[in-house]
Amino acid sequence: MPARVIDGKRIAAEYREQVRQDAAAFTQRTGIVPHLVAVLVGDDPASAVYVRNKERACEQAGFKGTVHRLSAETSQAALLDLVARLNADPGVHGILVQSPLPKQIDPLAILDAVDPLKDVDAFHPENVGLIVQGRPRFLPCTPAGVQQLLIAEGIETAGKHAVVLGRSEIVGKPMALLLMQKGLAADATVTVCHSRTKDLASIVRQADLLIAAIGTAKFVTADMVKPGAVVIDVGINRGESGLVGDVDYGPVSEIASAITPVPGGVGPMTIAMLLRNTLTAARMRVRD
Ligand code: NAP
Repeated sequence: MPARVIDGKRIAAEYREQVRQDAAAFTQRTGIVPHLVAVLVGDDPASAVYVRNKERACEQAGFKGTVHRLSAETSQAALLDLVARLNADPGVHGILVQSPLPKQIDPLAILDAVDPLKDVDAFHPENVGLIVQGRPRFLPCTPAGVQQLLIAEGIETAGKHAVVLGRSEIVGKPMALLLMQKGLAADATVTVCHSRTKDLASIVRQADLLIAAIGTAKFVTADMVKPGAVVIDVGINRGESGLVGDVDYGPVSEIASAITPVPGGVGPMTIAMLLRNTLTAARMRVRD
C-alpha cells in the first residue's frame, strides 16, 4: 500500500493560524505587536526567496516584519554594528541573519553577537545549551517543525529507532537532540549518520523513523528503507525539474507507511516555528 502523504502545507497553515490567534490575543493584552527583523547580506537568490517568504508570513500572522538588505561587500564590522543596534532596540523582538553569509564574514561571530533573547533561530550557544538540557527557550525551527508534523499525524516515536541522516548544526544535530529527549514526538532511540558513517545503507534500513537531511537529491533509495518506515525528507535540492528532496520519493513512497513530499512537507513548518519563536520572544520581553 502506498505511503500516507504528510501534508506539511496544511499542517503548517493550521499551526500558523494558531500562532496568529495567540499573537492577536497577546497584542490585545499588551498593545505589543511581535516584530521580526531579518538581515539579508548579498544577493543569493534562494536566500532572497526565503526572506521574502518570512516577511509575508509575518504579515499574515499579524506581526511586524522588517528586512535589512545589505550589499555582498558588507564588512563583518558593519554587520556586527547593525546586530548591536537591533539588540538594543526594544521594539525588535526577533533577529534572524539569513545564511549563507559572504566569505568575508565569520558566521560564528555573528551568531554569537545576536542577543540570545532575540535569537529566534535558536542558533546562539546559550539557546543550543538550553535545548541540549531539554529546557528550550526557543525551538530549533526545522527540527521542531518535524516534531509538529509527527504530532499532527499521530505518529508514535517512543521506543522507535530514529535514524537522522546528517549532523549539521541547523538540522541533523538538533533533530537528534529533540528526538532523544523525553516527551511527545521524542523518546526515540536515535542514530545519527554522516559522511564518515560506514555501512550507511544498512543503518538507514533499520530505521522506524528516518529523517533525511544531507542535501543530495534522491540519496535515499527504496532499497535503503524498511517496509512501513516513516520517512521525513528535509532536503531541498534545486534540479532541472524544480525542487527535489533527499529521498527518491516515488519508489520510497511504495514502501514507507508515511512520507513527506518536497515541496510541501517540512519546508512550510520551518517558517511556522519561526513565527512561534518570535511570539515567544515578544512575550518574554513583557513576562507575559
Ligand atoms: P549541511 O550543513 O550541508 O549538512 C549536511 C549533512 O549531511 C552533513 O552532516 C554531512 O556530513 C551529511 N552528508 C552529506 N553528504 C552525505 C553522504 N553522502 N552520506 C552521509 N552523510 C552525508 O546541510 P543542512 O543545512 O543540514 O541541510 C540539509 C538539507 O536540508 C539541504 O538540502 C537543505 O537545503 C535542507 N534544509 C531544509 C530546510 C527546510 O526548512 N525544509 C531547512 C534547512 C535545511 P558531514 O558532517 O560529515 O559533512
